[in-house]
Amino acid sequence: MTENNENVVTETEKKDSDVLLEVIDLCKSFPIEKNLLGKVQKELVAVDKVSFKLKAGETLGIVGESGCGKTTMGRTILKLHEPTGGQIIFNGEDITKYSKGQMRHLRTDMQIIFQDPYSSLPPRATVGDILSEPVKVHGIVPPEEVKSYVMDLMEKCGLRDYYYERYPHEFSGGQRQRICIARALSVKPKLVVCDEPVSALDVSIQAQIINLLKELQRSMNLTYLFISHDLSVVKFISDKVGVMYLGAMMEYGDKKDIFDNPLHPYTKALFSAIPNPNPDVKMNRIVLSGDIPSPTNPPSGCRFHTRCPHATEKCKQCVPEYKEYESGHFAACHMLDEE
Ligand code: SF4
Repeated sequence: MTENNENVVTETEKKDSDVLLEVIDLCKSFPIEKNLLGKVQKELVAVDKVSFKLKAGETLGIVGESGCGKTTMGRTILKLHEPTGGQIIFNGEDITKYSKGQMRHLRTDMQIIFQDPYSSLPPRATVGDILSEPVKVHGIVPPEEVKSYVMDLMEKCGLRDYYYERYPHEFSGGQRQRICIARALSVKPKLVVCDEPVSALDVSIQAQIINLLKELQRSMNLTYLFISHDLSVVKFISDKVGVMYLGAMMEYGDKKDIFDNPLHPYTKALFSAIPNPNPDVKMNRIVLSGDIPSPTNPPSGCRFHTRCPHATEKCKQCVPEYKEYESGHFAACHMLDEE
């Protein structure tokens, strides 16, 4: 091997050593109909061959209409659902086939913040108890330091110290979401899946929570998988963006590439709906006809062909290959091969 080749390998290895999460052809389907022998007759394909890499300290924003599989994908990566195909590599370990017992030691590294801060907190426990319990269970700090550790975490998350003795029902939605964030971060995770963390909150509170998540990411070197249908929020918080439709990744790349130069017709339609604050800029909204097809019976060929303004016969018959069109910018569309 030449010296040059050695350098190339070293650079590639270095790049991959930054990767905290790699998902390769991830699939998740749910059986919805079985015959008398228990054989699956019909299934709902929620996630279909999704692949991406996420570096430590970065945020990947996942966008798409309701029902596109983004939440199921997040939960499958955390193995709250068992994957039905593909691989999940976390921190260099292939965790795809890990049992519940094997996952237990990884639970502190992988956490989730749920959409609804009202139902995700136990009503009969105080904030102090809610935040102390995971710290004690996982032995994050010695027992005598738990209270001061929790108080410090509360301060970082913008919670006053006297909230320690209070109950969740005494707080507003924004404060409850701060408690949920503190609980997720109490075990010092590396990866946090944020599943629509601000969509249940008032717009003014959303900005505070997003800024808090950004600040905590910087100070604690967190990696986020940020799931949202709100494109403005995703644009603000993400480094990379993935666009999903009917369980599949349609486009993926750096935020700048995706927002400034979207390649896929679905991404273009989705982004054309973002309101422009400048009244002099005319909006060229692309209105998609029809509803999202059922994931139990997805269209043949390109799954977007029933709503795509550029669909051809080929699109109805052949599945477009998901490939890299610019450095780090992936998409799945036949039209891009012809340009
Ligand atoms: Fe539209 Fe065809 Fe591209 Fe699918 S493959 S997005 S139907 S042009």
